[in-house]
Amino acid sequence: MPCIYCKRDSGPNPGIAHIFPEALHSNQEVLPRGAVCDNCNQYFGKRLDENLIRYPSISFAIQFLATPGKSGKPRKLIGGIEREIPGEPDALSRTFTEKPTIGSGPDGTQRARVQFKQDPQFRMARFRRALHHVAFNIVAKLENADHMMLPHWDLARQYIRFPTGESESWSFAQITPSPASIPRVVQGIRWESGRRELVNMQIFQSMFVVDLRNTGGPGGSRARAGCRVLRSGAKRPASSDSRS
Ligand SMILES: [Zn+2]
Repeated sequence: MPCIYCKRDSGPNPGIAHIFPEALHSNQEVLPRGAVCDNCNQYFGKRLDENLIRYPSISFAIQFLATPGKSGKPRKLIGGIEREIPGEPDALSRTFTEKPTIGSGPDGTQRARVQFKQDPQFRMARFRRALHHVAFNIVAKLENADHMMLPHWDLARQYIRFPTGESESWSFAQITPSPASIPRVVQGIRWESGRRELVNMQIFQSMFVVDLRNTGGPGGSRARAGCRVLRSGAKRPASSDSRS
């Protein structure tokens, strides 16, 4: 079976490729065995997943929720964010409730402390590719490995696996609303949108959108400068009391 990233044969006994890196949260959302070769899988784990979880809003959520990583346990330090619960020597094995709250009170809410430090290891360009990698996996899950071999996906696969340089960077959009609590949710959805290939990913409290066709972000870079209200391409339903 050819690998959807490098197109080489994935060999006789390939490992499992997760759609959402286990570094985010241990999970069982996987691609069919062989869809991603071991070489690519290891490359993504080392180069991209590490930068995905070091992104500030993501590492904060992981530490706040104490989500288990690949080992099944919460991690003490991710990016610049260290997890610590005062007075609890076994804090790292502690299970949080589904909706943890910062602060302590008579209602049994818990107090957690996080420390923000600069993370010199973080690479923004790799974070961008990491987002596109997850998006590509999501489409591969919804379609199938054969479909992903189409030239339609060549630019994206090239960018994710063999970028022209560390500086190559495609855009993404991020929305981080202020939720009452950080949801323990990682999920993705593909949008149909003309010639764009948009994938929307919720990674805990943040929404990220990427375009796997790199058409230039929302609106497109070829759009005319200026302010205007746009009409969608959809036709209006015929009015029932039309007089013409
Ligand atoms: Zn490969």
